[in-house]
Amino acid sequence: MMTVQANKTATDIDQIDLDAPIFDPTAFRLNDEQAGIIATARELGQTVFAGRAAAYDREAKFPTDNYRDLHSAGLLGIAVPRKHGGLGANFQTYAIAAAEIGRHCGATALTWNMHVCSTLWSGPLADDLEMDAATRDEHERRRAVHYKRIVEEGAVYSQPFSEGGAAAAGGVAFGTEAKPVKGGWLVNGKKIFASLSGHADYYGVLCTEIAEGEKASRRNTLYLALPAKADGVSVVGDWDPLGMRGTVSRTLLFKDVYVPEDAALMPRGVYFQAAMRWPHMFLTLSPTYVGLAQAAYDFTVRYLRGEVPGTPPVKRRMYPTKQIAVAQMQIKLEQIKAIWFQAITEARANPTKEQVLRAYAAQYSAMEGANEIATLAIRTCGGQAMLKSLPLERIYRDSRCGSLMLPWTAELCLDRIGREALYETGESDD
Ligand SMILES: Cc1cc2nc3c(=O)[nH]c(=O)nc-3n(C[C@H](O)[C@H](O)[C@H](O)COP(=O)(O)OP(=O)(O)OC[C@H]3O[C@@H](n4cnc5c(N)ncnc54)[C@H](O)[C@@H]3O)c2cc1C
Repeated sequence: MMTVQANKTATDIDQIDLDAPIFDPTAFRLNDEQAGIIATARELGQTVFAGRAAAYDREAKFPTDNYRDLHSAGLLGIAVPRKHGGLGANFQTYAIAAAEIGRHCGATALTWNMHVCSTLWSGPLADDLEMDAATRDEHERRRAVHYKRIVEEGAVYSQPFSEGGAAAAGGVAFGTEAKPVKGGWLVNGKKIFASLSGHADYYGVLCTEIAEGEKASRRNTLYLALPAKADGVSVVGDWDPLGMRGTVSRTLLFKDVYVPEDAALMPRGVYFQAAMRWPHMFLTLSPTYVGLAQAAYDFTVRYLRGEVPGTPPVKRRMYPTKQIAVAQMQIKLEQIKAIWFQAITEARANPTKEQVLRAYAAQYSAMEGANEIATLAIRTCGGQAMLKSLPLERIYRDSRCGSLMLPWTAELCLDRIGREALYETGESDD
Protein backbone atom coordinates (compact mmCIF):
# COMPACT_ATOMS: atom_id res chain seq x y z
CA MET A 1 0.00 0.00 0.00
CA MET A 2 1.33 3.41 -0.92
CA THR A 3 1.38 6.04 1.79
CA VAL A 4 2.12 9.72 1.45
CA GLN A 5 3.41 11.92 4.24
CA ALA A 6 1.50 15.15 4.76
CA ASN A 7 4.71 16.82 5.98
CA LYS A 8 6.34 16.68 2.55
CA THR A 9 6.84 20.12 1.10
CA ALA A 10 5.17 21.20 -2.13
CA THR A 11 8.65 21.35 -3.70
CA ASP A 12 9.48 17.71 -2.76
CA ILE A 13 6.30 16.61 -4.44
CA ASP A 14 6.84 18.64 -7.59
CA GLN A 15 10.03 16.65 -8.17
CA ILE A 16 7.86 13.54 -8.73
CA ASP A 17 6.78 14.87 -12.15
CA LEU A 18 3.13 15.45 -11.41
CA ASP A 19 0.68 17.48 -13.45
CA ALA A 20 0.70 21.18 -12.60
CA PRO A 21 -1.52 22.14 -9.65
CA ILE A 22 -5.01 23.39 -10.54
CA PHE A 23 -4.25 26.50 -8.47
CA ASP A 24 -0.58 27.42 -8.71
CA PRO A 25 0.47 28.39 -5.16
CA THR A 26 2.39 31.47 -6.30
CA ALA A 27 -0.22 32.75 -8.74
CA PHE A 28 -3.04 32.22 -6.22
CA ARG A 29 -0.99 33.41 -3.22
CA LEU A 30 -1.24 30.23 -1.15
CA ASN A 31 1.18 29.94 1.76
CA ASP A 32 3.69 27.08 2.12
CA GLU A 33 1.58 25.20 4.63
CA GLN A 34 -1.47 25.29 2.34
CA ALA A 35 0.61 24.35 -0.68
CA GLY A 36 2.09 21.37 1.19
CA ILE A 37 -1.30 19.95 2.21
CA ILE A 38 -2.73 20.45 -1.28
CA ALA A 39 0.36 18.88 -2.86
CA THR A 40 -0.11 15.77 -0.70
CA ALA A 41 -3.67 15.40 -2.01
CA ARG A 42 -2.45 15.98 -5.58
CA GLU A 43 0.22 13.32 -5.32
CA LEU A 44 -2.12 10.76 -3.79
CA GLY A 45 -4.75 11.50 -6.44
CA GLN A 46 -2.46 11.18 -9.42
CA THR A 47 -0.14 8.39 -8.30
CA VAL A 48 -2.65 6.15 -6.52
CA PHE A 49 -6.34 7.05 -6.88
CA ALA A 50 -6.28 7.59 -10.65
CA GLY A 51 -5.27 3.97 -11.23
CA ARG A 52 -8.06 2.58 -9.06
CA ALA A 53 -10.91 4.83 -10.21
CA ALA A 54 -12.10 2.75 -13.19
CA ALA A 55 -12.66 -0.39 -11.09
CA TYR A 56 -14.59 1.44 -8.36
CA ASP A 57 -16.77 2.97 -11.06
CA ARG A 58 -17.33 -0.24 -12.99
CA GLU A 59 -18.28 -2.24 -9.91
CA ALA A 60 -20.05 0.65 -8.08
CA LYS A 61 -17.75 -0.25 -5.21
CA PHE A 62 -16.74 2.01 -2.33
CA PRO A 63 -13.07 3.15 -2.51
CA THR A 64 -12.04 1.52 0.77
CA ASP A 65 -8.33 1.34 -0.13
CA ASN A 66 -8.32 5.05 -0.92
CA TYR A 67 -9.66 5.78 2.55
CA ARG A 68 -6.85 3.77 4.10
CA ASP A 69 -4.40 5.92 2.16
CA LEU A 70 -6.20 9.15 3.09
CA HIS A 71 -5.80 8.13 6.72
CA SER A 72 -2.10 7.28 6.33
CA ALA A 73 -1.50 10.65 4.69
CA GLY A 74 -3.28 12.49 7.54
CA LEU A 75 -5.99 13.66 5.16
CA LEU A 76 -8.94 12.20 7.10
CA GLY A 77 -8.07 14.88 9.65
CA ILE A 78 -7.39 17.66 7.13
CA ALA A 79 -9.82 20.09 8.81
CA VAL A 80 -9.36 18.78 12.36
CA PRO A 81 -7.68 21.55 14.40
CA ARG A 82 -3.98 21.01 15.04
CA LYS A 83 -4.45 20.87 18.80
CA HIS A 84 -6.58 17.77 18.19
CA GLY A 85 -3.92 16.14 16.00
CA GLY A 86 -5.25 17.18 12.60
CA LEU A 87 -3.73 19.23 9.79
CA GLY A 88 -5.77 22.31 10.76
CA ALA A 89 -6.65 23.24 7.17
CA ASN A 90 -9.06 26.12 6.61
CA PHE A 91 -12.01 26.06 4.20
CA GLN A 92 -9.97 27.29 1.23
CA THR A 93 -7.16 24.77 1.71
CA TYR A 94 -9.59 21.89 2.07
CA ALA A 95 -11.57 22.95 -1.02
CA ILE A 96 -8.49 23.09 -3.26
CA ALA A 97 -7.17 19.76 -1.92
CA ALA A 98 -10.57 18.18 -2.66
CA ALA A 99 -10.48 19.53 -6.22
CA GLU A 100 -7.08 17.86 -6.71
CA ILE A 101 -8.57 14.53 -5.60
CA GLY A 102 -11.71 15.03 -7.74
CA ARG A 103 -9.43 15.40 -10.74
CA HIS A 104 -8.55 11.70 -10.42
CA CYS A 105 -11.47 10.02 -8.65
CA GLY A 106 -14.78 11.85 -8.38
CA ALA A 107 -16.35 9.33 -6.01
CA THR A 108 -13.46 9.54 -3.57
CA ALA A 109 -13.51 13.34 -3.55
CA LEU A 110 -17.29 13.54 -3.13
CA THR A 111 -17.43 11.03 -0.27
CA TRP A 112 -14.34 12.57 1.34
CA ASN A 113 -16.33 15.82 1.35
CA MET A 114 -19.11 14.21 3.42
CA HIS A 115 -16.47 12.99 5.88
CA VAL A 116 -14.54 16.26 6.05
CA CYS A 117 -17.71 18.29 6.63
CA SER A 118 -18.23 16.51 9.92
CA THR A 119 -14.94 18.06 11.07
CA LEU A 120 -15.13 21.36 9.16
CA TRP A 121 -18.63 22.18 10.44
CA SER A 122 -17.90 21.11 14.01
CA GLY A 123 -14.44 22.73 13.84
CA PRO A 124 -13.47 26.05 12.21
CA LEU A 125 -17.05 26.83 11.21
CA ALA A 126 -18.49 26.27 14.70
CA ASP A 127 -15.66 28.40 16.12
CA ASP A 128 -17.13 31.35 14.18
CA LEU A 129 -20.62 30.93 15.66
CA GLU A 130 -22.17 32.18 18.87
CA MET A 131 -22.25 29.90 21.91
CA ASP A 132 -22.16 30.72 25.60
CA ALA A 133 -18.97 29.71 27.42
CA ALA A 134 -20.44 26.55 28.98
CA THR A 135 -21.83 25.34 25.63
CA ARG A 136 -18.51 26.00 23.93
CA ASP A 137 -16.63 24.05 26.60
CA GLU A 138 -19.02 21.15 26.23
CA HIS A 139 -18.68 21.27 22.43
CA GLU A 140 -14.89 21.29 22.76
CA ARG A 141 -15.01 18.18 24.95
CA ARG A 142 -17.40 16.36 22.61
CA ARG A 143 -15.67 17.15 19.35
CA ALA A 144 -12.41 15.90 20.84
CA VAL A 145 -14.05 12.45 21.03
CA HIS A 146 -14.91 12.51 17.31
CA TYR A 147 -11.55 13.94 16.25
CA LYS A 148 -9.59 11.31 18.23
CA ARG A 149 -11.49 8.53 16.48
CA ILE A 150 -10.76 10.07 13.09
CA VAL A 151 -7.12 10.98 13.58
CA GLU A 152 -6.01 7.96 15.59
CA GLU A 153 -8.30 5.17 14.45
CA GLY A 154 -9.12 6.28 10.91
CA ALA A 155 -12.86 6.47 11.61
CA VAL A 156 -14.87 7.61 8.58
CA TYR A 157 -17.96 9.82 8.95
CA SER A 158 -20.70 10.43 6.39
CA GLN A 159 -23.35 13.08 6.10
CA PRO A 160 -26.84 11.85 5.21
CA PHE A 161 -29.37 14.65 5.18
CA SER A 162 -31.48 14.03 2.04
CA GLU A 163 -34.91 12.55 2.73
CA GLY A 164 -36.71 12.90 -0.58
CA GLY A 165 -38.89 15.80 0.64
CA ALA A 166 -38.33 19.54 1.04
CA ALA A 167 -36.07 19.29 4.12
CA ALA A 168 -32.71 18.89 2.36
CA ALA A 169 -33.42 22.02 0.31
CA GLY A 170 -33.85 23.88 3.61
CA GLY A 171 -37.63 24.31 3.19
CA VAL A 172 -38.97 22.40 6.22
CA ALA A 173 -37.73 20.56 9.30
CA PHE A 174 -36.03 17.18 8.77
CA GLY A 175 -38.47 14.28 9.03
CA THR A 176 -35.88 12.13 10.82
CA GLU A 177 -36.63 12.66 14.50
CA ALA A 178 -34.55 12.56 17.69
CA LYS A 179 -36.61 12.04 20.81
CA PRO A 180 -34.84 13.07 24.03
CA VAL A 181 -34.45 10.20 26.49
CA LYS A 182 -32.28 9.81 29.58
CA GLY A 183 -28.66 10.57 28.62
CA GLY A 184 -29.28 10.97 24.88
CA TRP A 185 -31.80 10.50 22.07
CA LEU A 186 -33.77 7.84 20.25
CA VAL A 187 -33.53 8.42 16.51
CA ASN A 188 -36.13 7.30 13.95
CA GLY A 189 -36.26 8.06 10.25
CA LYS A 190 -34.96 7.46 6.76
CA LYS A 191 -32.24 9.05 4.63
CA ILE A 192 -31.96 8.57 0.88
CA PHE A 193 -28.86 8.92 -1.32
CA ALA A 194 -26.69 8.42 1.76
CA SER A 195 -23.15 8.25 0.36
CA LEU A 196 -20.80 5.85 2.21
CA SER A 197 -23.76 3.64 3.23
CA GLY A 198 -22.40 0.48 4.75
CA HIS A 199 -18.87 1.90 4.65
CA ALA A 200 -18.78 4.84 7.06
CA ASP A 201 -18.16 4.11 10.73
CA TYR A 202 -20.49 6.94 11.79
CA TYR A 203 -23.44 8.50 9.96
CA GLY A 204 -23.60 12.26 10.69
CA VAL A 205 -27.37 12.52 10.62
CA LEU A 206 -29.31 15.80 10.43
CA CYS A 207 -32.56 15.35 12.36
CA THR A 208 -35.18 17.28 14.29
CA GLU A 209 -35.28 17.16 18.07
CA ILE A 210 -38.83 16.58 19.16
CA ALA A 211 -40.04 19.02 21.79
CA GLU A 212 -43.20 18.00 23.69
CA GLY A 213 -46.25 19.90 22.40
CA GLU A 214 -44.25 21.88 19.79
CA LYS A 215 -44.41 21.70 16.01
CA ALA A 216 -41.27 20.33 14.32
CA SER A 217 -38.99 23.28 13.60
CA ARG A 218 -35.76 23.76 11.63
CA ARG A 219 -34.45 25.63 14.70
CA ASN A 220 -34.40 22.30 16.54
CA THR A 221 -32.14 20.56 14.02
CA LEU A 222 -29.54 18.29 15.60
CA TYR A 223 -26.41 16.94 13.94
CA LEU A 224 -25.74 13.53 15.49
CA ALA A 225 -23.09 10.88 14.75
CA LEU A 226 -24.86 7.52 14.75
CA PRO A 227 -22.51 4.51 14.94
CA ALA A 228 -23.05 2.43 11.80
CA LYS A 229 -23.14 -0.69 13.95
CA ALA A 230 -25.74 0.63 16.43
CA ASP A 231 -28.89 -1.45 16.94
CA GLY A 232 -31.68 -0.20 14.69
CA VAL A 233 -29.45 1.09 11.84
CA SER A 234 -29.90 -0.63 8.48
CA VAL A 235 -28.86 -0.06 4.86
CA VAL A 236 -31.41 -0.95 2.19
CA GLY A 237 -31.89 -0.66 -1.57
CA ASP A 238 -29.46 -1.08 -4.41
CA TRP A 239 -27.09 1.41 -6.04
CA ASP A 240 -26.63 1.36 -9.80
CA PRO A 241 -26.56 5.02 -10.94
CA LEU A 242 -25.31 6.92 -13.98
CA GLY A 243 -22.27 8.44 -12.29
CA MET A 244 -20.46 8.80 -8.96
CA ARG A 245 -20.94 5.07 -8.68
CA GLY A 246 -18.24 4.54 -6.06
CA THR A 247 -20.12 6.75 -3.57
CA VAL A 248 -22.51 3.86 -2.73
CA SER A 249 -25.34 6.25 -1.84
CA ARG A 250 -28.00 3.81 -0.67
CA THR A 251 -30.91 4.28 1.76
CA LEU A 252 -30.41 4.35 5.53
CA LEU A 253 -33.15 3.40 7.99
CA PHE A 254 -33.10 4.28 11.68
CA LYS A 255 -35.45 2.48 14.03
CA ASP A 256 -35.25 3.50 17.71
CA VAL A 257 -31.50 4.04 17.49
CA TYR A 258 -30.18 5.17 20.86
CA VAL A 259 -27.29 7.63 20.88
CA PRO A 260 -25.74 9.29 23.94
CA GLU A 261 -25.38 13.08 24.23
CA ASP A 262 -21.72 12.87 23.16
CA ALA A 263 -22.95 11.87 19.70
CA ALA A 264 -23.77 15.54 19.01
CA LEU A 265 -21.43 17.02 16.40
CA MET A 266 -22.84 20.47 17.12
CA PRO A 267 -24.67 21.79 20.20
CA ARG A 268 -28.43 22.43 20.08
CA GLY A 269 -29.35 25.33 17.78
CA VAL A 270 -25.89 25.63 16.23
CA TYR A 271 -26.66 23.83 12.95
CA PHE A 272 -29.58 26.22 12.35
CA GLN A 273 -27.35 29.17 13.20
CA ALA A 274 -24.69 27.85 10.80
CA ALA A 275 -27.19 27.45 7.95
CA MET A 276 -28.33 31.06 8.48
CA ARG A 277 -24.96 32.72 9.14
CA TRP A 278 -22.34 30.55 7.39
CA PRO A 279 -23.98 29.74 4.02
CA HIS A 280 -20.72 28.73 2.33
CA MET A 281 -20.99 25.51 4.36
CA PHE A 282 -23.10 24.24 1.44
CA LEU A 283 -20.44 25.09 -1.15
CA THR A 284 -18.31 22.13 -0.12
CA LEU A 285 -19.84 19.77 -2.69
CA SER A 286 -18.37 21.84 -5.52
CA PRO A 287 -14.59 21.12 -5.26
CA THR A 288 -15.02 17.61 -6.68
CA TYR A 289 -16.53 19.11 -9.83
CA VAL A 290 -13.82 21.75 -10.24
CA GLY A 291 -11.43 18.78 -10.27
CA LEU A 292 -13.54 16.99 -12.88
CA ALA A 293 -13.59 20.11 -15.08
CA GLN A 294 -9.80 20.24 -14.95
CA ALA A 295 -9.59 16.50 -15.67
CA ALA A 296 -11.76 16.80 -18.82
CA TYR A 297 -9.58 19.65 -20.07
CA ASP A 298 -6.30 17.84 -19.27
CA PHE A 299 -7.51 14.72 -21.07
CA THR A 300 -8.46 16.68 -24.19
CA VAL A 301 -5.11 18.43 -24.49
CA ARG A 302 -3.22 15.15 -24.05
CA TYR A 303 -5.47 13.28 -26.45
CA LEU A 304 -5.17 15.87 -29.20
CA ARG A 305 -1.40 15.90 -28.73
CA GLY A 306 -1.39 12.10 -29.15
CA GLU A 307 -0.10 11.58 -25.62
CA VAL A 308 -2.81 9.46 -23.98
CA PRO A 309 -1.34 5.99 -23.33
CA GLY A 310 -3.18 3.18 -25.10
CA THR A 311 -4.63 5.38 -27.84
CA PRO A 312 -3.47 5.49 -31.45
CA PRO A 313 -0.89 8.22 -31.96
CA VAL A 314 -3.14 10.25 -34.21
CA LYS A 315 -2.44 13.94 -33.79
CA ARG A 316 -5.41 16.17 -34.49
CA ARG A 317 -4.24 19.39 -32.95
CA MET A 318 -3.55 21.01 -36.33
CA TYR A 319 -7.29 21.35 -37.14
CA PRO A 320 -8.66 24.84 -36.38
CA THR A 321 -11.95 23.39 -35.06
CA LYS A 322 -10.03 21.41 -32.42
CA GLN A 323 -8.04 24.47 -31.44
CA ILE A 324 -11.19 26.55 -31.07
CA ALA A 325 -12.86 23.88 -28.93
CA VAL A 326 -9.81 23.68 -26.66
CA ALA A 327 -9.80 27.46 -26.40
CA GLN A 328 -13.47 27.43 -25.40
CA MET A 329 -12.76 24.77 -22.77
CA GLN A 330 -9.81 26.68 -21.38
CA ILE A 331 -11.85 29.90 -21.14
CA LYS A 332 -14.68 28.07 -19.36
CA LEU A 333 -12.22 26.41 -16.98
CA GLU A 334 -10.56 29.71 -16.08
CA GLN A 335 -13.98 31.30 -15.52
CA ILE A 336 -14.94 28.49 -13.14
CA LYS A 337 -11.61 28.68 -11.33
CA ALA A 338 -11.76 32.45 -10.92
CA ILE A 339 -15.25 32.73 -9.45
CA TRP A 340 -14.84 29.57 -7.38
CA PHE A 341 -11.48 30.62 -5.92
CA GLN A 342 -12.96 33.97 -4.92
CA ALA A 343 -15.99 32.27 -3.31
CA ILE A 344 -13.96 29.73 -1.30
CA THR A 345 -11.61 32.51 -0.19
CA GLU A 346 -14.41 34.64 1.23
CA ALA A 347 -16.23 31.80 3.07
CA ARG A 348 -16.94 33.15 6.56
CA ALA A 349 -19.65 33.95 9.09
CA ASN A 350 -22.07 36.72 8.12
CA PRO A 351 -21.01 37.20 4.48
CA THR A 352 -22.38 40.17 2.59
CA LYS A 353 -25.29 39.73 0.19
CA GLU A 354 -22.85 40.11 -2.72
CA GLN A 355 -20.70 37.28 -1.31
CA VAL A 356 -23.69 34.99 -0.88
CA LEU A 357 -24.87 35.61 -4.45
CA ARG A 358 -21.32 34.95 -5.63
CA ALA A 359 -21.23 31.66 -3.70
CA TYR A 360 -24.43 30.50 -5.47
CA ALA A 361 -22.97 31.63 -8.80
CA ALA A 362 -19.71 29.77 -8.06
CA GLN A 363 -21.60 26.59 -7.19
CA TYR A 364 -23.71 26.86 -10.37
CA SER A 365 -20.64 27.59 -12.49
CA ALA A 366 -18.69 24.59 -11.14
CA MET A 367 -21.56 22.12 -11.24
CA GLU A 368 -22.93 22.99 -14.68
CA GLY A 369 -19.54 24.03 -16.11
CA ALA A 370 -17.80 20.74 -15.31
CA ASN A 371 -20.34 18.86 -17.38
CA GLU A 372 -20.23 21.45 -20.19
CA ILE A 373 -16.45 21.02 -20.42
CA ALA A 374 -16.77 17.21 -20.32
CA THR A 375 -19.42 17.36 -23.07
CA LEU A 376 -17.14 19.48 -25.26
CA ALA A 377 -14.26 17.12 -24.49
CA ILE A 378 -16.17 14.12 -25.83
CA ARG A 379 -17.31 15.96 -28.95
CA THR A 380 -13.81 17.25 -29.63
CA CYS A 381 -11.82 14.08 -28.95
CA GLY A 382 -14.32 11.86 -30.77
CA GLY A 383 -15.57 8.31 -30.58
CA GLN A 384 -12.34 6.54 -29.74
CA ALA A 385 -11.98 8.75 -26.67
CA MET A 386 -15.27 7.75 -25.06
CA LEU A 387 -14.51 4.06 -24.69
CA LYS A 388 -14.69 2.68 -21.18
CA SER A 389 -10.98 1.91 -21.30
CA LEU A 390 -10.31 5.66 -20.96
CA PRO A 391 -11.34 8.00 -18.11
CA LEU A 392 -13.22 10.61 -20.17
CA GLU A 393 -16.59 8.88 -20.26
CA ARG A 394 -16.46 8.38 -16.45
CA ILE A 395 -15.57 12.05 -16.00
CA TYR A 396 -18.56 12.92 -18.20
CA ARG A 397 -20.98 10.73 -16.19
CA ASP A 398 -19.63 11.86 -12.82
CA SER A 399 -19.78 15.51 -13.82
CA ARG A 400 -23.50 15.17 -14.68
CA CYS A 401 -24.31 14.55 -10.99
CA GLY A 402 -23.05 17.87 -9.64
CA SER A 403 -26.07 20.03 -10.35
CA LEU A 404 -28.36 17.54 -8.54
CA MET A 405 -26.74 17.97 -5.15
CA LEU A 406 -29.05 19.54 -2.56
CA PRO A 407 -29.36 22.02 -1.02
CA TRP A 408 -27.63 24.06 -3.75
CA THR A 409 -28.79 22.30 -6.91
CA ALA A 410 -28.29 24.26 -10.13
CA GLU A 411 -32.02 25.04 -10.19
CA LEU A 412 -32.07 26.21 -6.59
CA CYS A 413 -29.03 28.43 -7.20
CA LEU A 414 -30.85 30.10 -10.10
CA ASP A 415 -33.98 30.40 -7.99
CA ARG A 416 -32.13 32.06 -5.09
CA ILE A 417 -29.95 34.36 -7.18
CA GLY A 418 -32.99 35.67 -9.06
CA ARG A 419 -35.12 36.18 -5.98
CA GLU A 420 -32.42 37.55 -3.70
CA ALA A 421 -31.15 39.94 -6.38
CA LEU A 422 -34.63 41.38 -6.90
CA TYR A 423 -35.96 41.41 -3.32
CA GLU A 424 -34.39 42.61 -0.08
CA THR A 425 -35.12 40.57 3.07
CA GLY A 426 -38.77 40.97 4.06
CA GLU A 427 -39.80 42.72 0.81
CA SER A 428 -42.90 41.56 -1.06
CA ASP A 429 -45.17 42.83 -3.83
CA ASP A 430 -48.30 42.89 -1.67
C1 LIG B 1 -23.98 10.75 -6.35
C2 LIG B 1 -24.86 11.36 -5.32
C3 LIG B 1 -24.43 11.33 -4.00
C4 LIG B 1 -25.23 11.88 -3.00
N1 LIG B 1 -24.80 11.84 -1.69
C5 LIG B 1 -25.56 12.38 -0.71
C6 LIG B 1 -25.17 12.33 0.67
O1 LIG B 1 -24.13 11.79 1.01
N2 LIG B 1 -25.99 12.87 1.58
C7 LIG B 1 -27.13 13.46 1.25
O2 LIG B 1 -27.81 13.94 2.11
N3 LIG B 1 -27.55 13.52 -0.03
C8 LIG B 1 -26.79 13.00 -1.01
N4 LIG B 1 -27.21 13.06 -2.32
C9 LIG B 1 -28.54 13.54 -2.59
C10 LIG B 1 -28.68 14.87 -3.29
O3 LIG B 1 -28.22 15.92 -2.52
C11 LIG B 1 -30.18 15.06 -3.56
O4 LIG B 1 -30.86 15.07 -2.36
C12 LIG B 1 -30.71 13.95 -4.37
O5 LIG B 1 -30.15 14.03 -5.64
C13 LIG B 1 -32.23 13.94 -4.32
O6 LIG B 1 -32.79 14.19 -5.52
P1 LIG B 1 -34.35 14.31 -5.72
O7 LIG B 1 -34.58 14.10 -7.15
O8 LIG B 1 -35.06 13.43 -4.74
O9 LIG B 1 -34.59 15.78 -5.29
P2 LIG B 1 -35.94 16.54 -5.15
O10 LIG B 1 -35.99 17.06 -3.76
O11 LIG B 1 -37.07 15.76 -5.68
O12 LIG B 1 -35.67 17.73 -6.10
C14 LIG B 1 -35.62 17.57 -7.51
C15 LIG B 1 -35.13 18.87 -8.07
O13 LIG B 1 -36.14 19.87 -7.84
C16 LIG B 1 -35.52 21.07 -7.46
N5 LIG B 1 -36.06 21.55 -6.17
C17 LIG B 1 -36.10 20.89 -4.99
N6 LIG B 1 -36.66 21.67 -4.04
C18 LIG B 1 -36.97 22.83 -4.64
C19 LIG B 1 -37.57 24.04 -4.20
N7 LIG B 1 -37.95 24.21 -2.92
N8 LIG B 1 -37.72 25.03 -5.11
C20 LIG B 1 -37.35 24.89 -6.40
N9 LIG B 1 -36.78 23.76 -6.88
C21 LIG B 1 -36.59 22.75 -6.01
C22 LIG B 1 -34.05 20.83 -7.34
O14 LIG B 1 -33.39 21.41 -8.44
C23 LIG B 1 -33.87 19.35 -7.37
O15 LIG B 1 -32.71 18.96 -8.09
C24 LIG B 1 -26.44 12.49 -3.34
C25 LIG B 1 -26.86 12.52 -4.68
C26 LIG B 1 -26.08 11.98 -5.65
C27 LIG B 1 -26.56 12.03 -7.07
